[in-house]
Amino acid sequence: MSTHQITPADEHLPPLELPPGALDASHPDYENTTGNDPPEIEPIEHRIRLDIIEAGGLLSHETHPPTPLARQYIQKTLVDTYESERRFFPSYDRLDNFLGEAPAFLTGELEPHYRELEQIRADRRKWYTELIPKNLDTIQGTADSLLPLHANTFHGVVIVDANTDPIEYADEHDLDVDDIIREAQLDNHILPAEYGVTLPAPLLVGEFASGSTYAFLPWSDAVVCGCPYKQTNKWAVMCKHELAAASRLANAYEGDVDAKYVLPIDVGVDIPQRARRFVSPTVAATHTPRKQR
Ligand SMILES: [Zn+2]
Repeated sequence: MSTHQITPADEHLPPLELPPGALDASHPDYENTTGNDPPEIEPIEHRIRLDIIEAGGLLSHETHPPTPLARQYIQKTLVDTYESERRFFPSYDRLDNFLGEAPAFLTGELEPHYRELEQIRADRRKWYTELIPKNLDTIQGTADSLLPLHANTFHGVVIVDANTDPIEYADEHDLDVDDIIREAQLDNHILPAEYGVTLPAPLLVGEFASGSTYAFLPWSDAVVCGCPYKQTNKWAVMCKHELAAASRLANAYEGDVDAKYVLPIDVGVDIPQRARRFVSPTVAATHTPRKQR
């Protein structure tokens, strides 16, 4: 498996070595093997992150009207994205008639495949119309544990493996020992090495007001939270930590485009932008948050 190496500006830091799954989908070396690799950050996830950033954040649990602007943007994005996938499916109009016209043997052969495709499309519809809104309701419902927003710290660190002594590593590389974290010290459900990140690695770690510490893992041209909620609920497009990150970026300096999509470093070492990029530039260039007309 080839890796891509990014050299940090700070010469004391190790290079950031990333697997093919961390690249943009349009990159010739991009590869995501369904079932073996962690799931891709779907385009809808990047778009929802953008929607929240552009709307100015989404950290309170609003159950009553008016619907928060971010949720209005997201609703439109969900509808549009589901519609855009229509082209990947054959038309099922009059499917029963259509199959009835074929010779019995052919109908018997084809029908299970059509039904399976119908089910895939129904599952996709359920994801966009039910599961994603429920996911967002859930994390908004727990957002209080992340307030105040500035109490969530983004820490630039070097993650080392179990065989590396952080004190020795810090001494050898002239770094502060507080900025060296053993992989096992993280609360991550999935560790950086399981995402194909070669250790030692300069990564961004979120130290959250809720008490947990999770590394953000470079993947699909952005980063994904390593917490149990995000990593075990494959249908979840966002966890509360990513919500905190999006809300933090929503409050970034407006004139600075990078500051909108790249997570800041509050403390610690100056890790590469690639380990902090929260939205794929490709998606940022092609998605405009909009309300339903
Ligand atoms: Zn999380």
